[in-house]
Amino acid sequence: MSGRRMETVLTTHFADEGFRRLEGYLGKAGYEGLRKAVAMPREAIVDEVKKANLRGRGGAGFPAGVKWGFLPKDLSRPRVLVVNADEGEPGTFKDRLILSRGPHLLVEGIAITCFALQIHEAWIYIRGEYAREARILEEALSEARAAGFLGKDLLGSGFDLEVVLHRGAGAYICGEETSTINSLEGKRGWPRLKPPFPAAVGAFGRPTLVNNVETLANVPWILRNGGERFAALGCEKNGGTRLVGVSGPVVRPGIYELPANANLRSVVYDVAGGLRDGKALKAVIPGGSSTPVLRADEIDVTLDIESMAAKGTMAGTCGVIVIPEGTCMVRALSVLMNFYAHESCGQCSPCREGTGWLARIVGRIEAGEGKPGDVELILDVCDNMSGRTICALADAAAMPAQSFIGKFRGEFDRHIAEGKCRP
Ligand code: SF4
Repeated sequence: MSGRRMETVLTTHFADEGFRRLEGYLGKAGYEGLRKAVAMPREAIVDEVKKANLRGRGGAGFPAGVKWGFLPKDLSRPRVLVVNADEGEPGTFKDRLILSRGPHLLVEGIAITCFALQIHEAWIYIRGEYAREARILEEALSEARAAGFLGKDLLGSGFDLEVVLHRGAGAYICGEETSTINSLEGKRGWPRLKPPFPAAVGAFGRPTLVNNVETLANVPWILRNGGERFAALGCEKNGGTRLVGVSGPVVRPGIYELPANANLRSVVYDVAGGLRDGKALKAVIPGGSSTPVLRADEIDVTLDIESMAAKGTMAGTCGVIVIPEGTCMVRALSVLMNFYAHESCGQCSPCREGTGWLARIVGRIEAGEGKPGDVELILDVCDNMSGRTICALADAAAMPAQSFIGKFRGEFDRHIAEGKCRP
């Protein structure tokens, strides 16, 4: 990416098969962050995470240390940590790598976080499709319990922590944090109206912190090496590294650990090797399927949250989807709209009806049955969805629709006028 050798936080030992087991993990400074943490004042642990400029890696990018501070100071109501491992955003597969190659990074991150915040109960909500990852994680939890890193009197600190692994059943919406909580409680996986926010009333009615897998997996390194060193790996407001997933017809698709301000063009061409078979680039969705698309001439931008926002898009989950020249953008949008219509939980009319409308209108344009005024109708439906619903799924559907039309309007108009595809 640049002249200097990149320091990695998460993936350093992922090529080592033994790293997923406790013995291998301990051989690579595993659980040293936790040993250090239990000897520190709790506020000092939180301060290190704040100094690290660690932003949530689940998509929203909220500063982790600040989110931790939202838990009420009063300890009379037991607190809960919910780990969001329900990785369902299309184009996003980074947490799967952590869960399968370095599960103890997550377990140690959970233990440090819970110790710092005096949380005695943690639940990991893992995507139902991640059956193999669930097995690996369950094994890591057992190893950690047997070695005294979890359970009663953790590392002789007098602190108790129980961690439970819970498998989801395959609904995208269960990745929304209040929906995760409902599903965990055995209820229908519907997002909740907020307020109250989970920090006040979350899982089982208790104050709850919800953090993403990648966010927590960074915590052991921060404790071992210091928040300032972590912050220095990224840029001003985005500390550390990001796991960037590149999918699409590139030479080397996969997950890459890169500085939080990696350049998107360099990700596509240098890191992932550019497009296969000499194809030209048409567009890039930079942060998972809900983030606004960029044209090929717009990718000279860094992946940090602020720079992406300045380009009118989002860093999201850093799930970079590469779209080659020759792709029909109407067809591509139709695939996305069908996904969101299928995954809407149906509680809010603008989302339940709006996602269905979008799927049907884009679908008929793609089928050569579009009508004059359909593009305006799509934009009108989007306007009536954005910001009017309980959770962000309606916006997640509207943003790609608006950006695909905004950037590739000619293709939509031609599809309607000619009744066929001419990308
Ligand atoms: S926005 Fe959609 S997914 Fe979210 S609560 Fe409303 S209907 Fe359900």
